[in-house]
Amino acid sequence: MKKTFLPPATIGILGSGQLGRMLAMAARQMGYRVHVFSPDRHSPTGQIADQEFTAAYDDLDAMRQFAQSVDVVTYEFENVPAETAVTCAQFAPLHPGPQALHIAQNRLREKEFMVRHGLPVAPFVAVGSLASLTVGLEEIGVPAILKTATSGYDGKGQEKIVNRQSSIVNRHWDAIGHQPAILEAFVDFEREVSVVAARGADGSFAHFGVIANDHANHILDVSTAPADVPPKVAQDAVEMARVVLEALDVVGVLCVEFFLTGDGRLLINEIAPRPHNSGHLTIEACATSQFEQQLRAICGLPLGDTRYLSPAAMANLLGDLWFLHKDNPQSAIRNPQSLNWTAVLAHHPAVKLHLYGKQTARPGRKMGHITAQAATGEEAATIVREARARARARGRGRTIR
Ligand code: AMP
Repeated sequence: MKKTFLPPATIGILGSGQLGRMLAMAARQMGYRVHVFSPDRHSPTGQIADQEFTAAYDDLDAMRQFAQSVDVVTYEFENVPAETAVTCAQFAPLHPGPQALHIAQNRLREKEFMVRHGLPVAPFVAVGSLASLTVGLEEIGVPAILKTATSGYDGKGQEKIVNRQSSIVNRHWDAIGHQPAILEAFVDFEREVSVVAARGADGSFAHFGVIANDHANHILDVSTAPADVPPKVAQDAVEMARVVLEALDVVGVLCVEFFLTGDGRLLINEIAPRPHNSGHLTIEACATSQFEQQLRAICGLPLGDTRYLSPAAMANLLGDLWFLHKDNPQSAIRNPQSLNWTAVLAHHPAVKLHLYGKQTARPGRKMGHITAQAATGEEAATIVREARARARARGRGRTIR
């Protein structure tokens, strides 16, 4: 029988970005206490938490102190060092467990896990040297994508290879720093979709259906739910997510990202054993948000109702918005809070603004997001795109602090 943690128990969060912040908000709402651990001070999560532990992730003494101060621990990013996870788990239950972390931390392990469980992925080979990359390219063909096995996200540590000429292949190998990698076939997908799902301590399963994701420069730009996909595709995607959560014995929320090809085939791209950017719209659109669901799962509470109250969309607010010219750091708007949020909100009463309390904007950095609910997902997506475009409008209400 797994233990139930009731308010005012203390939730420990490893990592202190926006995902931790929104989890902390859900926890605070339900009367939990929150302690956060990360190398940063006054972080997006720390601003909401009762206590912010500031130390390096490999500072095991600090980690021990943190873990002793909480009742249950979760994380908001999957690159928590294995030793840190083990230390933490000695003092407080860690959800999702070390197995989910181990698989999600390494693209090769992740792909091999999918194959073992009969889940579809793009053809891939392991790459450990220039020679194996060259052989791999013969097998996979071009175009192909070379991805570092660890530490890559949002297109970082990735090289698209379109030419097998040895000098060019050399350059790609140099570009990823000669690290262990996978080479995978380039998928000519029609769209990208995700399933955010949760598994409770009692094995119960709940999901937020299929969400459609548009990317720009390898970073999520706009998510729309429910995704306009055939019912069979939606059913298959959810079933695959269920298989992943069960196989990894996840207690918590996990997101599966898919490519959907023109002929209706789903291929799993990657998994994230935590709430996901594509699930942010569940805060307003669903009876229970992905963050409350994460909290309920790790605390051993019953999972909440994931029903959509209406179709919805979310647009990310990247740091780029704060720069007049993307490639010129001098063009940054001095006050990071000084975009025209009044104009954004005035665009449509359905628009909801979320800012993560980050002090410095950088291109590609996730600073916030906006969501809207509407009669259709398409309409909601139009609203959030148009509202976002007004963030740089001149005129009344230029600043909000
Ligand atoms: P990832 O970090 O693996 O999620 O990749 C970031 C983005 O790069 C994905 O969301 C896709 O838009 C693109 N991408 C990654 N892998 C492939 C692939 N095998 N074929 C085509 N596009 C890809």
